[in-house]
Amino acid sequence: MCEMPEVLEIPDRWECVTCGHEWDREPEPEQARVVKDADGNVLADGDTVSLIKDLPLKGSSQVLKVGTKAKRLGRR
Ligand SMILES: [Zn+2]
Repeated sequence: MCEMPEVLEIPDRWECVTCGHEWDREPEPEQARVVKDADGNVLADGDTVSLIKDLPLKGSSQVLKVGTKAKRLGRR
């Protein structure tokens, strides 16, 4: 594989700007997102968590109080 720093990013492959060499892109590993609650339990999307501090709600004057059960939203 070419080691040149100038590389074009094409959707399914790389292309070297310097010599025109092309090669397949390695599929990028999906970043594993690990979220833990206050007790150190690993959470999955949809789990209910207890807030450990007051959390102001964006766009409103409401504040979620400590201990509020909140449901994590999954990635859409
Ligand atoms: Zn090259």
